[in-house]
Amino acid sequence: MYDDFMAKCIYCLKDETKTTFQSREHVLPEFLGLYDPQTPVLRDCVCDLCNSIFSKLETKFREDTFEGILGQRLNFQNQNSITVRNKNFKITPLSKFRNQLFMRTFFLLKIENEKLVPDLRGHVTLKMKNGGYRVFLLESLSTLKKESSKFNKIKKDITKLSKEDIWIFVSKKEASIEQVKDILKNYGVTYNEKERGSGDDISETVEIAENYDGTVDKDIVRVIAKICFNYLCYCAREDNQPNILFHENFDSIRRFIYKGEGRPQSFFSIDENRILGEESGSNKNYLGHSICFGEENGKLYFRITLFGFQPYKLFLGDIPPELKHQLFGCAHIFDPLGKKIHNIAQNRQPIALDALMLSFGLLKRFR
Ligand SMILES: [Zn+2]
Repeated sequence: MYDDFMAKCIYCLKDETKTTFQSREHVLPEFLGLYDPQTPVLRDCVCDLCNSIFSKLETKFREDTFEGILGQRLNFQNQNSITVRNKNFKITPLSKFRNQLFMRTFFLLKIENEKLVPDLRGHVTLKMKNGGYRVFLLESLSTLKKESSKFNKIKKDITKLSKEDIWIFVSKKEASIEQVKDILKNYGVTYNEKERGSGDDISETVEIAENYDGTVDKDIVRVIAKICFNYLCYCAREDNQPNILFHENFDSIRRFIYKGEGRPQSFFSIDENRILGEESGSNKNYLGHSICFGEENGKLYFRITLFGFQPYKLFLGDIPPELKHQLFGCAHIFDPLGKKIHNIAQNRQPIALDALMLSFGLLKRFR
């Protein structure tokens, strides 16, 4: 569809004569969810070098923000383990378990009856030397074939972790502690039990209750700004207007995103207003990602919220004259639990793929 365009990076502005375009760039990072029938990706828009810069930033976002850790805990990508840096973003459990020992475990999550509940599958938690921790699913540890590349990767990762403070959560049905010890031995870990809690509490219904504390630093703003600019790119390409992305009005935001130049304070804020009208004034937040852009005082603004967490507002630059139009804008909801994408202007009913693709564009302002 885009064969007539020369590949050119929307971030560093190098074209295919100066850099390579082998990798795909996901509009939203994959750990935030995957969608049917297709997850929006950009091809020939983000070069491999920029892509590798972004992958480091996204790792930090994934492991050290509310949104990133929630994405990992919902495990859309079916990973064997999750990583929590516990550096910028701190989670303090306020668990309602009767048995206080369970306060120390860090659960993956799943959705049951529209509620986030702990995933009670067995897992092993090991501390990182710098204060973070990694949670390995027992199921993965026990089923990976010895000496397979995934097995070796985990074994290698575990050598870097502290063996002093190991925490095992397992139900009697799943395995005995002796079995878990044997599994851990395969990975070079000797487990010496210090205390044990009763498993009787597992059957009670437990809501996850946690306190969160963290800041949004420059790298995190870069990831959020990149999602916005990627979305703009996707909309511009669906509208066959890719050249608008290279407009000089966007030069400062692209330098901020790929080089970290400039100060986020000048264009980024946490916005108290909810994006979805139905969320305003209620305590219920929709557990999806809402994203929209439009015009405000001649500037291109974005509003975005991931997993219904705090809404962010960004100004990406002055609107290029060719985009000044009363319908300038676009808005979508990405629902990672239902794996669906919805156009905000439409009802949240599934629509045919061709209609959905047509809903991406530059002149699709909502409300
Ligand atoms: Zn590039």
